[in-house]
Amino acid sequence: MSISLHNVIDPSISCFSCKAVCCKLEVMLITDTGVPKEHIKIDAWGAETMLRLDDGWCSAVDRSTMMCTIYENRPWVCREFATGSQECLDERREGL
Ligand code: SF4
Ligand code: SF4
Repeated sequence: MSISLHNVIDPSISCFSCKAVCCKLEVMLITDTGVPKEHIKIDAWGAETMLRLDDGWCSAVDRSTMMCTIYENRPWVCREFATGSQECLDERREGL
């Protein structure tokens, strides 16, 4: 049984076969879900996003498993990004 990073719309689509391509997108922090400070980037205007490292992925991605290391505290945007949704399929098509 697979564990998704996100909500699931189409169970035939698995995050395990994807290398977390959506975790390369810019993720705005809109609400406080308890994301650890070391994973937050604050721009000159005070806006908060998930920090991305030089390889392009969110710093909270475990590079060996490609899973979210802060799942319980992941941002609202990540909770809303549904596995198997059109935006998921678009990212997979671009990033696989
Ligand atoms: S793009 Fe879709 S399948 Fe890939 S990690 Fe994100 S939600 Fe999962
Ligand atoms: S917080 Fe987790 S689910 Fe959201 S982009 Fe980072 S690794 Fe992916």
